[in-house]
This record gives sequence, structure tokens and C-alpha cells, in this order.
Amino acid sequence: MDNKMNAALFYAPQDVRFERIDIPRPSEGEVLVKVRAALTCGTDIKTYQRGHPAMIKKVPTTFGHEFSGDIVEVGKGVKYFKPGMRVTCCNAVPCMKCFYCKNNQHNLCEDLLVLNGAYAEYIIIPERMVRINLLEFPRHLSYFEAALSEPLGTAVHAIRLTGIEQGDTVTVIGSGPLGLMLMRLAALQGAEVIALGKGEERLKQAEKFGVKHIIDISDISSLDKQIEKARQLTSEGRGSDVVIEAVGKPEAWEEALKIVRKGGKVTFFGGCKRGTTITVDTEQLHYSELKLIGVFHQRPDDYRRSLKLLSDRTVDGRDFVKETVPLSRLIETFNRVKSLEGIKFSIDPTKME
Ligand SMILES: [Zn+2]
Ligand SMILES: [Zn+2]
Repeated sequence: MDNKMNAALFYAPQDVRFERIDIPRPSEGEVLVKVRAALTCGTDIKTYQRGHPAMIKKVPTTFGHEFSGDIVEVGKGVKYFKPGMRVTCCNAVPCMKCFYCKNNQHNLCEDLLVLNGAYAEYIIIPERMVRINLLEFPRHLSYFEAALSEPLGTAVHAIRLTGIEQGDTVTVIGSGPLGLMLMRLAALQGAEVIALGKGEERLKQAEKFGVKHIIDISDISSLDKQIEKARQLTSEGRGSDVVIEAVGKPEAWEEALKIVRKGGKVTFFGGCKRGTTITVDTEQLHYSELKLIGVFHQRPDDYRRSLKLLSDRTVDGRDFVKETVPLSRLIETFNRVKSLEGIKFSIDPTKME
């Protein structure tokens, strides 16, 4: 080891450079992990395109946040974790001290600590993360499968907060990686799932996940037509018991309100651009007794459930990641994701071409 590692460094939007930088060393309570799989995620692609106020605080900086790897060194005072262990880590960890943490709403913590830097050969896991959100995973699981625990955890959280009954009709709007995870989890709850999405590979995957009705929206330009189609698929056209929005656009949030039945629930999963608003018909909200549920992030227990679902392959991570690419092809891979190729890709930071 020459004490240098490969890293993708974010300098500015659309300016990411591949450099050799110093391998960090763990301080007290910290753990050094050799990253074996770092996944592509919409958040990182957005960061690349336009920066990110919360994730990027100084430049240049490493980025990437869904990962797993091998422990290579532990700092003083670290208990349980040892070199050679295969671990994965939820990249945002609560403080366990504030009002929200004590109120069992850790995802709303006032002092979430966020870790960024998975598109590099090594990463330091901060002390708090080691204590709360660093998990060992079983040998039979590939690194990329374990790395899916972070995004899947947010879907586990959303499904838990939504509350789905067996036999419910659940419409999921959006067929990105998280839309697909939400569909899979809803189907596992015994729901009749309707999917609105696009991308041939993704919709094929939705079918494999047990989604009953698939509406390919690339053929339907008008929102009203999409709504009509989705409602037609529900019993007597009355609308869906549950609608989950996983696009992150105000139009899609409003669309969800038009697909839900009276007395139904709408879960808003996709984060919209800051400052955007939606219109809700007060009469509908009031007389139809709609339940509108916002969801964000995950609790440590959601994260543990997520890794368990992946470990026993109740959710098969191999359906989400079909290809591993070297770090040097990161940007090209972001563009492939944007053109709806594949679902997620695994980046191997040890490889440069
Ligand atoms: Zn992510
Ligand atoms: Zn807290």
C-alpha cells in the first residue's frame, strides 16, 4: 500500500475528477472500510449535475453514499468490529438524544450525521455511525446486495408508516429503484399492486416482483389519461386504497390525489425541489377523509429490517444490480442510469481503467 487511494472528487457541478488521495486513518471509535461496492443513486446523480446543499459542504470532496466493504482497521476503543468483517452502513445516523430520537422518530433527528464518500477506495466510518448504523452482513450476500440496505431501508420505513392491509389496492407512481422497492414490499404485504412507470427493463422487473397491473406511461402523455387508466383498474373504478408517490415532482404528488379512493391514503415518498407547492382540494380532503402521509429517511430499526430482507433474499438484491463497473466509468454510468438503462449499478472503486 502506498498510502494513496483512488477517489472521485466533486469540484463543482459536472466537474468530477479522479485522483489519488491519501488513505484516511481511523481515530478513536472510528473504523476504516475498504469499499467493495458503491451503488449509483439518484441523489448522487443530482449532486453531480447541480451540487447538493446538505451533502456537499466544501470542495473538492468525495461523494457517494450507498456502499459496503471490508473493515481494514479499527480505531482505539472500537468494540465488536474487527478487520476482515464485511460491513455496510446507513449513511445518515441519528443522535439518540434529541426530542425526536427519544420520541422514536429517529428519522426526524435534529442532528443527523451524514456520511458521504463511497466513490473512493476507502472510507472512514465516524464513531457515532459505528455505534448505531454499522452492520455486519453474512458471507453468502454479495457486497452490492448489502449496499442496497440503505435505499431499501427508506422503503421499509415508508411502507411501515403507510400501513397496508392484505388485499389493499396499492398504486405506486414511479418505477425508479425506490419505486420498484416500494412495489416489491407492497406486494409482499399481500397488496394488489398497480404500477405507473417507464423503462422497459424496470417494468419487466416490476412484473417479476408481483405487480399485477403495469401502466407504461411513456405511451400516455396526458396526466388525465394516466389517472383514468389507473382508476379503471380498481374495483368499480373507485380509486386505489393506497397511492405511493415515488417520482418527486409536484405534478405526480397531485396525480396521486386523483387516483386515491375516498377514505384512502396517499404516501408522498419522492422529495420535490425546494420551494415547490401542490394544490389540494379542501373539499376532497375533508369529505373524502383522505390521509396524507409524508415520509422521509429511515430509523435504525428500519435499516436493520432492510438488511434482513436482503440477507434472506425476501427482497433479492440481484434484481436491482446487474452490472459492476470500474470507478473511472462513474460519470458514463450516471448517464446510463439517466437514460433508464438498468436499475442500479455497482461501482468498484478499486478498479480504474
Ligand atoms: Zn441513495
Ligand atoms: Zn436526534
